[in-house]
Amino acid sequence: MVLRIVVVGGGVNGIGTALALKQILPNCQLTVVSKDFTPDTTGDGAAGMWGPYLVEGTPDDKIISGYQFTTLIAEPSRFLPKLMAKVEEYGGTFVKRRLSSLEEVASTADLVMNCSGLGAKDLVPDDLVYPCRGQVMRVQAPWVKEFFADESEESFCYILPNIDKVVLGGTHQDNDWRRELDPIDRETIWRNCTESMPSLKNCEVVKEWVGLRPCRKGGIRVDTEEIFVKNRHIPVVHNYGHGGCGVSTFWGCSKEAASLAVNLIQKYYGSPSKL
Ligand SMILES: Cc1cc2nc3c(=O)[nH]c(=O)nc-3n(C[C@H](O)[C@H](O)[C@H](O)COP(=O)(O)OP(=O)(O)OC[C@H]3O[C@@H](n4cnc5c(N)ncnc54)[C@H](O)[C@@H]3O)c2cc1C
Repeated sequence: MVLRIVVVGGGVNGIGTALALKQILPNCQLTVVSKDFTPDTTGDGAAGMWGPYLVEGTPDDKIISGYQFTTLIAEPSRFLPKLMAKVEEYGGTFVKRRLSSLEEVASTADLVMNCSGLGAKDLVPDDLVYPCRGQVMRVQAPWVKEFFADESEESFCYILPNIDKVVLGGTHQDNDWRRELDPIDRETIWRNCTESMPSLKNCEVVKEWVGLRPCRKGGIRVDTEEIFVKNRHIPVVHNYGHGGCGVSTFWGCSKEAASLAVNLIQKYYGSPSKL
């Protein structure tokens, strides 16, 4: 039997989960179905700083805590195409399609991996899922080499150097679905960032962007469920709700989701090594 796995979602979590699965189950028939792929996913505009941010229920013993630390930058717009190429090398395929339910793909699959970010609100459905709107601008300021974040209410801002640009932010507006740029947010970001770092005053703005962080009350959901479609019980692994730190957490969550998938395969179809 060739095991048919559908991963729903083409963001960092969907592609990470697809790759983690293919590394464990190279012979499975894997398809990633998503209405968007890079460069149009949430991560493509993310600053890419590794750190726990805006995700509820993060256990203290699993994070770095404190105010000064060394970390890394990982820009999804650069690494997502590489991860997708790796999934393809393993024989995985990609289909651009918007789903109105998980059942749509479950009817022709043996296992569904749900990595649909905010889409999980309707697809699961899960009322705990909500957007947290983030507006940012990207500027040319090659002299900025250190991350800076001020989390106080009155002067909230962050300045995060990427490889060839610097990300200035930002906003965190819960339950705000607007994807358009807001001129008032632009003004606030610019004022707070340039007051914190006056050398930015004359830098060139190259891009502005709005993204919706896929938050979830209660935090990230990596767990399993079963759906009943066309007289078949189909196992589902959920991996969504990564809020403001999905770039930081995606590989760990992808590996956890893949390991839950292996347990389900064993339970429903027998030993994964024989598939
Ligand atoms: C301004 C901003 C800055 C950020 N900065 C950082 C940072 O510095 N560090 C960090 O760790 N994180 C950061 N984040 C958070 C990070 O970008 C997200 O947590 C992460 O990208 C979420 O990835 P995901 O794959 O779960 O969701 P998404 O990238 O949103 O992917 C969900 C996928 O599901 C697909 N989908 C949804 N519904 C359907 C449907 N009905 N049918 C088919 N497909 C569907 C979508 O097309 C998409 O491909 C930032 C976010 C924002 C907005």
